[in-house]
Amino acid sequence: MDAEIPVNADALTYPFAAAPQPGSAREIAPGVLWLRMPLPMALDHINVWALAEADGWTVIDTGMHTGASEAAWQKALAQPLGGRPVRRVVCTHMHPDHVGMAGWLTHRFDCPLWMTRLEYVTCRMLVGDTQREAPPDAVRFYQACGWDAQALAHYQARFGSFGKRIFPLPSSFQRISDGDTVEIGGRPWRALIGRGHSPEHLCLYCPELALLISGDQVLPRISSNVSVFPTEPAADPLAEWLASLSELRQRIPDEVLVLPAHNEPFRGLHARLEKLTARHEQALARVLEALGEPQRVIDLFALLFRRPIAADALTLATGETLAHLNYLQRRGHITRELRDGVCWYQTRTVRT
Ligand SMILES: [Zn+2]
Repeated sequence: MDAEIPVNADALTYPFAAAPQPGSAREIAPGVLWLRMPLPMALDHINVWALAEADGWTVIDTGMHTGASEAAWQKALAQPLGGRPVRRVVCTHMHPDHVGMAGWLTHRFDCPLWMTRLEYVTCRMLVGDTQREAPPDAVRFYQACGWDAQALAHYQARFGSFGKRIFPLPSSFQRISDGDTVEIGGRPWRALIGRGHSPEHLCLYCPELALLISGDQVLPRISSNVSVFPTEPAADPLAEWLASLSELRQRIPDEVLVLPAHNEPFRGLHARLEKLTARHEQALARVLEALGEPQRVIDLFALLFRRPIAADALTLATGETLAHLNYLQRRGHITRELRDGVCWYQTRTVRT
């Protein structure tokens, strides 16, 4: 669920550039293995991490539930993981590429799932929407963004697909909260929560190994999607996202090796956080400038994405554009007017 927007990452270094093939692993620190699971989309992989315990493994993130992931896990469990059992599964957040195989692993090894509460509960809720029809308020939401009949029909036909690549989650979980210390492989890892990409995203920081497992909260070469969805039309995820990036910068030293969920492990955390923040600030400035004239959400795509939006990416492009608009509206910089079911945004005129 990440928008693939290439960004200049020249301040970063990649000490482990050669990624492991699905089913194999690469040790990147004592007892910390890097594995990859294939994804059936343009972003074709997710990194998962296996941390050695005295009697097995803690696995962090799991891949989508597909035949290819099952095959890769079967191979990895037999070989690099040496047939030793998975003792615990931790998911950074609820997106299907992270949580999809969690139920498969916990079921197979009869082990617990550890997550933050909002990620677990939100995932169960969205999986509950699978196979349902698109609700009328969701259709109205996208209509208000300026979608045409064809786009709305495509959305209605695809609605309810969230759970299709998620093996049923276990019916209970172990909660991780911000600031918790979780012992993994005999070492303390500190839990840090980020928001904006997903509701209560977990990062894990091990000072002893100088490692940060960052999930989708910080990615080196792509920028994580920050979206408003029809379930909460007035949400302000961009403010949460920017606050989370700033908090990460304060709480985690620059020297760490970052283990992201996509792309490769990298150094240069603070430079990356600054670049991600600057990108959004520039986007906010561009949007504000364009709103001298009234615009709909879809009118701003060319400005924000600088490439045509494919039908399948329309939801994320709309969500991300709205994240910028809601941010500006909440802070009183722009107004929104509903005309014939469509929202028009414009810079607030200052009356003197
Ligand atoms: Zn994600």
